[in-house]
Amino acid sequence: MIVGILALQGDFREHELVLQQLGVSTQQVRLPKHLEYVDRLIIPGGESTTIGKLLILYNLLEPIQERGHQGMPVWGTCAGAILMAKHIAEGRPAGQPSLALVDITAKRNAFGRQLDSFEADLDVPSLGAKSFHAVFIRAPLLEAPETDVQTIATLEEQHIVAAQQGSFLLTCFHPELSDDDRFHRYFLEL
Ligand code: GLN
Repeated sequence: MIVGILALQGDFREHELVLQQLGVSTQQVRLPKHLEYVDRLIIPGGESTTIGKLLILYNLLEPIQERGHQGMPVWGTCAGAILMAKHIAEGRPAGQPSLALVDITAKRNAFGRQLDSFEADLDVPSLGAKSFHAVFIRAPLLEAPETDVQTIATLEEQHIVAAQQGSFLLTCFHPELSDDDRFHRYFLEL
């Protein structure tokens, strides 16, 4: 199995490191031809508007959508989750590019200035009993999931911060920055 990591902007190297520690082969995806080698794809955190523009510039938006629709598992973390949501709230007024793979709304920068960045222990039943220490950095929140979207984790039992629709996974936080590879292992099994 080769896991692709979109490497246009953001913290793709951190994802790569976790996967390499798990003994998984990785491929940085910068051009459409790189997609041919990968079985699944991670879209890292960074800046969703920038990554969106670069997806268009490098002709990657449609090929990724196409692979996703064909069943390739895709995991978006933070900015990556924004890019995978079908609806974006608080995006650029003129709209921003999106892969639009998951029937959910991502609200950008949902925690305001005071809580720009923080860490929290989350209950994630899919990962077992032990809580997951999550790092949030100018994170989005997920809202209005449609019926076949499963909530994977909530913050304070009300805000959705991780969700899944089939083989598409979204996390508003950065599991690649926690010293815990359970989300990576979960994605590898999708
Ligand atoms: N706030 C960023 C955005 O809107 C996401 C931040 C992140 O990926 N850590 O794209």
